[in-house]
Amino acid sequence: MSGFFSTKIEFLKGVGPQRAELLNKELQIFTYGDLLQHYPFRYEDRSKFYKIQQLNPDLENVQVIARVMKLEIVGVGGKKRLVAHVADETGEMEMTWFKGIQWVQKKLPVGSVFIFFGKPAQFGRKWSIAHPEMEPLSQASENRNSFQPVYSTTEKLRARFLDSRGISKLMEQLVHASLPYIQETLPTSILEQYQLIGKKEALREIHFPSRPELLQRARKRLKFEEFFFLQLRLLKMKVARTEKFRGQILDNTSLLTEFYQNHIPFELTGAQKRVIRESYHDLKSGKQMNRLIQGDVGSGKTMVAFICMLIAIGSGSQACLMAPTEILANQHYEGLKEYADMMGIKIALLTGSVKKSARKTIHEELLSGDLKILIGTHALLEDVVQFQNLGLAIVDEQHRFGVAQRAKLWAKNEEFFPHVLVMTATPIPRTLAMTLYGDLDVSVIDELPAGRKPIQTVHRYDKDRLKVFGFINQEIQKGRQVYIVYPLIEESEKLNLKNLMDGYESIARAFPQYPLSIVHGAMKAEAKDFEMQRFVKGETKIMVATTVIEVGVNVPNASVMIIENAERFGLSQLHQLRGRVGRGAEQSYCILMSKYELSKDSRIRLETMVRTNDGFEIADVDLRLRGPGDLMGTQQSGVTDLLIADLSKDAGLLTLARDAAQQLLANDPHLSLPENQPILKQIQQQKKTAVNWSRIS
Ligand code: ADP
Ligand code: MG
Repeated sequence: MSGFFSTKIEFLKGVGPQRAELLNKELQIFTYGDLLQHYPFRYEDRSKFYKIQQLNPDLENVQVIARVMKLEIVGVGGKKRLVAHVADETGEMEMTWFKGIQWVQKKLPVGSVFIFFGKPAQFGRKWSIAHPEMEPLSQASENRNSFQPVYSTTEKLRARFLDSRGISKLMEQLVHASLPYIQETLPTSILEQYQLIGKKEALREIHFPSRPELLQRARKRLKFEEFFFLQLRLLKMKVARTEKFRGQILDNTSLLTEFYQNHIPFELTGAQKRVIRESYHDLKSGKQMNRLIQGDVGSGKTMVAFICMLIAIGSGSQACLMAPTEILANQHYEGLKEYADMMGIKIALLTGSVKKSARKTIHEELLSGDLKILIGTHALLEDVVQFQNLGLAIVDEQHRFGVAQRAKLWAKNEEFFPHVLVMTATPIPRTLAMTLYGDLDVSVIDELPAGRKPIQTVHRYDKDRLKVFGFINQEIQKGRQVYIVYPLIEESEKLNLKNLMDGYESIARAFPQYPLSIVHGAMKAEAKDFEMQRFVKGETKIMVATTVIEVGVNVPNASVMIIENAERFGLSQLHQLRGRVGRGAEQSYCILMSKYELSKDSRIRLETMVRTNDGFEIADVDLRLRGPGDLMGTQQSGVTDLLIADLSKDAGLLTLARDAAQQLLANDPHLSLPENQPILKQIQQQKKTAVNWSRIS
């Protein structure tokens, strides 16, 4: 960007130091460039006016032309407000201000006629608008647009006349002054291929649309650009990574073939096969693999992991699998040991509770290379754990591991970084994955093994509790086990525990004949494990728990999941919890209990759960309800910095922009061609501004 765009906002006519400070604080607008990118978030029809008599409660923002009859200050001290009594030929109404009273007073001479704009509310029989936008009729332009931009602003700015209208006034000047300096940021070839309008035109149209079609095209162009540069940055990081980090070539499939022909207990799903192929492609490529496998609960990620291990071991290296908890590590170990034994491959489990002597053996056998597979918790990361040649590191349920821990994993092989496979059951919509993990490769297991009975999900109100208890009893009689989960109430640990304990007591009263387990956050890890194990072994029939029941825990005999106060859970959490059942041959059920009165969003969440078992569909709804920023604590990824594009609504454009970025890098991985210099400059510029902002705020 030229110097023009980095001019401090205070120098724009009509801003000055005080408003500049507010713009900095309230909207993070520091420069001309920032303001120019403060795009309208919607447009309003300003060609229509209402008479006071026509006002009715269903109206949103309206425009009224009225004369100021009288100004009055009502109330005292901090509660003071300014009331302007205004009238047109059909009636009278009030405009009120609680802040900036003195400013407004000066601007509103009695007798003058204004266009007021805002949402009308009725008090008694009188209509009023609080903090309306206003503009003297004499200064209003003739042709009022049916596409008036609406800018986001704040109370404090409004009090300084920087309401949407005020910002629009500034923008008029700024856009005009900017035009000579605006340079095209996308290459002509891309503009042509994707039929995008130029930058200059787009900026003008986004702020001052001349026609609906052009506004549409301006939005498309600016969204595309935003996605394009985001993807380009991520993909460039990926290029840099694959160039920097060579990988051990793991290409021997003899063990895999042996397992596949003689031992594999079931036919792999098409999706499992595809993901294995994708991973194999990386393993033999000579570049370090960094792949995320997304697969819904029960999609069979473990088998994919094992087969990748076979490729690594067959090619002369070792493999490890790290799980977030001891229970999970145990379960992986039990499951994989069976397969490893069939193949005569040595496997061991390393967790915090493994005895010292056993540990020593593990350490020795890892170094000598006898031990081929190590399963464990983060105990794997300790420095004493040294491999002869670690080729493949698999991380289950990645969201619990930080970057630093992953770096420790990498350090386990000095010559080559191990290939890394990260497996997660938290489905992320494709658009978000492209952005969050844009520099990783992502594989998706989007198919469940055949013959699974889909979990039946129902929504019940608290008044149906007796029936639900009857159902629980019936299932336990059939030999099944039941989870009952209570929400975490964030405000209060105490309330949590009380809620859970009350629940526990009522269940104990209802089912005196069945042994129960209880697990909650305030328990010591050992006690938790002990209770979990009793349930895993089938000694207890009902598990009463908060959401601490572990992600990924496998109790195939548990076929009923009851979620209490289900309206308090987020969608992805509900889906994760439901995934605890449906793991055995029996029909499984999920019962969502809630109170009767529900908010709109809660209702959508519960309805979605009842309607579908598809984690990706659920994630999409979640994204729409919550917005991307909220979804996974995505702050660091820049996802929330999007100015105009929207990950949940513009998925199609994102894909196009990513294709375009990919194509560009395929031809010019380092952006060294002369025609791509503007693009390179743009990326570098963006990095700089990002840093600046974070320093300032
Ligand atoms: P997750 O993806 O949730 O980790 P798992 O790997 O634990 O799922 O697999 C869930 C269950 O499905 C396991 O009992 C596993 O043996 C079984 N399974 C995995 N793949 C298949 C398949 N292709 N056909 C039948 N059963 C399978
Ligand atoms: Mg798993």
